Amino acid sequence: MAERVYNFSPGPAMLPLSALEEAQRDLLALPNEGVSILEISHRSKRFSGIMEQAENNIRQLLAVPESHHVLFFQGGAQLQFVMAPMNLLASGDKSADYVLTGSWGKKAMQEAQAQGQTRVAFDAATDNYNRVPTQEELELDPKAAYVHITSNETIGGVQFPTEPDTGDVPLISDSSSDFLSRPLPIERYGMMYACAQKNAGPAGVTIVIIRDDLVERSAQDLPSMLSYRVMAQSHSVFNTPPVFAIYMVKLVTDWLLNEIGGLEKMNALNQQKAQLLYDAIVAAEGFYEVHAQPGSRSLMNVAFRLKDADLEQPFLDAAAAEGLIALKGHRSVGGCRASIYNAMPIEGVQKLAQFMDDFRRKHG
Ligand code: PMP
Repeated sequence: MAERVYNFSPGPAMLPLSALEEAQRDLLALPNEGVSILEISHRSKRFSGIMEQAENNIRQLLAVPESHHVLFFQGGAQLQFVMAPMNLLASGDKSADYVLTGSWGKKAMQEAQAQGQTRVAFDAATDNYNRVPTQEELELDPKAAYVHITSNETIGGVQFPTEPDTGDVPLISDSSSDFLSRPLPIERYGMMYACAQKNAGPAGVTIVIIRDDLVERSAQDLPSMLSYRVMAQSHSVFNTPPVFAIYMVKLVTDWLLNEIGGLEKMNALNQQKAQLLYDAIVAAEGFYEVHAQPGSRSLMNVAFRLKDADLEQPFLDAAAAEGLIALKGHRSVGGCRASIYNAMPIEGVQKLAQFMDDFRRKHG
């Protein structure tokens, strides 16, 4: 087997080894099936079972109530930037509230503006998007169609520790980069969506958890493929779903349930991993600087800079030489970023923390 490195990519990101190994086995032929997972019909009994299992695993991990559908879409998280307002905003006379804590939330609002009326309920621009709002800072419209948040801003590494209270207005969360990383009270969400390629599987599938009354509310005159109602009625098999990606979601969620032992345990591990890095940065006394303020720091994406920007490229090169790859920050903001999703082993984070300490000693 080719050697594997520690991949700190923001997504597509590392997958659990056991899931990759099972996929490797099934790539030639699924047991007792004689065909590859890449060749099997999306309407076969075997695949229906795999998809049902993926859904049930997600339901079990997040304790998804009966009131909520679990659906699988193509088109990435960015299709949901459009679908949410298309279904839930465009046909009514309400506006939608957007909470802006980084680039993805801003993009989501831009897409919504083409569909209907939007309002900014909070904008962290003056703080350079380094924090989430307090409950008191939110200027919520009690008549809004929904409130949209980005639970974890992947680029800035800014995460809501808990979801805001939006009263009777449905809360919609883009949870792409912290999905399945911790237990959540799903009953408080009208809808949550997440592209899979960070915490749940490979690129190609987006998971949407949506409450029944929002499905019912979705506009009537939409193209079938863009309608929550049609996708819910067809149990995500209106057309050919991304079979392989959904199969991988099943394997990753099997791993979360059976090897990790659920989201309480996953969260404890994620806390421990993030703490290691933030502690290493704080201990470095100004050599490294974290972007996010305490209280808003992401457990998934640790975005930081080297105080001496000229050392950034040597830092990235030296890290890569040690098998610590993809630590470059997003092209829009520069700097460095360590994405430490569920499947990043603690050993990888320990190795990075040690490397950061060694690098500082050499160059500080
Ligand atoms: N939202 C968030 C929070 C993201 O991190 C990303 C991808 N990095 C997206 C949306 C866009 O996802 P996709 O490329 O699947 O459309």
